[in-house]
Amino acid sequence: MPIEFDDNLGERLVSAEARHEDDTEGSLRPQRLGDYIGQEKAKENLRVFIEAARMRGESLDHVLLSGPPGLGKTTLAGVIANEMGSNLRVTSGPAIEKAGDLAALLTNLAPHDILFIDEIHRLNRSVEEVLYPAMEDFALDIIIGKGPSARSIRLDLPPFTLIGATTRAGQLTAPLRDRFGVLLKLELYKTDELERIVTRSADILNMPIESSGAREIAGRSRGTPRIANRLLKRVRDWAQVKADGCITREVADEALRALEIDHLGLDATDRRMLRGIIDIYDGGPVGLEALAATVGEETVTLEDVYEPYLLQLGFLSRTPRGRCATKYAYDHLGLAYTAQAEKEPASEQQTVDDWMKKV
Ligand code: ADP
Repeated sequence: MPIEFDDNLGERLVSAEARHEDDTEGSLRPQRLGDYIGQEKAKENLRVFIEAARMRGESLDHVLLSGPPGLGKTTLAGVIANEMGSNLRVTSGPAIEKAGDLAALLTNLAPHDILFIDEIHRLNRSVEEVLYPAMEDFALDIIIGKGPSARSIRLDLPPFTLIGATTRAGQLTAPLRDRFGVLLKLELYKTDELERIVTRSADILNMPIESSGAREIAGRSRGTPRIANRLLKRVRDWAQVKADGCITREVADEALRALEIDHLGLDATDRRMLRGIIDIYDGGPVGLEALAATVGEETVTLEDVYEPYLLQLGFLSRTPRGRCATKYAYDHLGLAYTAQAEKEPASEQQTVDDWMKKV
């Protein structure tokens, strides 16, 4: 799996995107459904579909996995391949530039192989069209020759399973989405599930940890296993240098506090975004573009990386007119909340520059 480093995220420790420091991810990935923690609904469905496909000796139906980065989509694709006893071929939407690249991938598949396409919403149109007959009929339509003598021939492909992963299921075209038989949406993890993930990872990496320490890290991981594993490694460094090596609740708290990650897992950038909505836009509503300009991030980054967790915490609400900060966000930041109806219109004088000076 190529790991991308997104410069926009800078050194943000609680970003869910994969970074170079996550290179031990491979060893931490669960291999079987039984080791894959959480996502009970998705696992239950998959168990049935996998078992049925195996009993019939067929390939599993095509699977679409959606959800924010770091929730375990790639991991789950590997788990499915292991459970099916199939080979996994991994690629990503942006890596397949031309229709011919995909045709080459498809013709090299062996029967029952699993092809995993990460970020499948980023496939370009001409590549996507090659997928339609491949997914539906296990066939490849190839045009030979040019002009009036051009003719189309159909090549048979071995039966295979396509697993697509996307952070934005809504951006998939309808013809592509309709060709997936199994649609699974991964949810942010609960704290007790993340605690089990942290404990499991600490065990694999031979780190002494107390359950209260694992819980402290879990609670600050934004519902995301990738962040939980990353925080665990930072806390381990702290435990080794500043304590006796064991990760206790106190050590985890001290380390994460030093990294400016608060008890809910918000970092300076989250707080800046919430302050932006509250101070400049009087709590909202504010359009996504304006908000992105205020915090200096791309709109996709706000939507994919920051918002899911802030929405889940109930700190943000999405309205047709834009994003609003809720009472919980004001409380968390220690600010007095005024109900929307009682608010004066925001002062014309309050400019972005004023605000920038304040924060
Ligand atoms: P995505 O493909 O959704 O961005 P990944 O599958 O790469 O996410 O998962 C990131 C890391 O989180 C993996 O290294 C894996 O160790 C861990 N992880 C994800 N889901 C789980 C899970 N359900 N149980 C245990 N660890 C998990």
